Amino acid sequence: MLDRFNRKINYFRISVTDRCNLRCVCGMPECGIKLINHSDVITFEEIFEIVQVAVGLGIDKVRLTGGEPLVRKGIVDLVQMIASIPGIKDLSLTTNGTLLDQYALLLAQAGLHRVNISLDTLNPDHYKEITRVGDIRDVFNGITAALKAGLNPVKINCVIKKSPLEKDARDVKSFCDENNLEVRFIKEMNLESGIFSKVIGGDGGNCKICNRLRLTANGKIKPCLFSDIEYDVRVLGIEQAIYRAIGIKPASGTENRINSFSNIGG
Ligand code: SF4
Repeated sequence: MLDRFNRKINYFRISVTDRCNLRCVCGMPECGIKLINHSDVITFEEIFEIVQVAVGLGIDKVRLTGGEPLVRKGIVDLVQMIASIPGIKDLSLTTNGTLLDQYALLLAQAGLHRVNISLDTLNPDHYKEITRVGDIRDVFNGITAALKAGLNPVKINCVIKKSPLEKDARDVKSFCDENNLEVRFIKEMNLESGIFSKVIGGDGGNCKICNRLRLTANGKIKPCLFSDIEYDVRVLGIEQAIYRAIGIKPASGTENRINSFSNIGG
């Protein structure tokens, strides 16, 4: 599928839940955020059907995100269902890594290819400050389990304030170099104001070559992270929702006032 700017759309990011087991200061108030009603959350059967249709229209790359995808009950079954769809060349998952120790092997066996793990610092106290409730040892155990399970590559997503030369970022880079991990630096973003930036060491945020569509945890197809536009698959049907989203995909992001990052998998 080509959009009106001739970008080939082949990448589908699916937010399987808006829930997370951390309370990161950058993205969530301490008391949590207003969550989608349980009854509105997209079912595995719906996701399976949507991915089947999307693959028929040219999608060959799927990433599962959240919130935190590993808090969704039955996530391994979902991975297995998606992996069984012929035509998917790349199946990945973005996680905070805290539950990966118990899931990495099961996910790999279910057909997951690779994983991106968020880690902004190596300092346990700073990690606790950033995540409010997280224990950095869980993430290290998760990384070890991912490597051991043969997920490949294991990438680390590191949010930076301004530059990859900041102390935390340099520490994370050295840790990655020593442990056969790829690192991607992502500048802190502001969803409401439309301040977003390119991923350093990846294609994320490069609007000119943006190849992605998103599915929110309540069943809306979004053409762009930084846009309010979304089409409800339950109202329009899957094919129509996808066609409309591709038809209106903007040249670049502007702003998003109606969703939180945790709902759309940002
Ligand atoms: S802002 Fe929108 S168009 Fe640009 S890279 Fe992100 S999702 Fe793609």
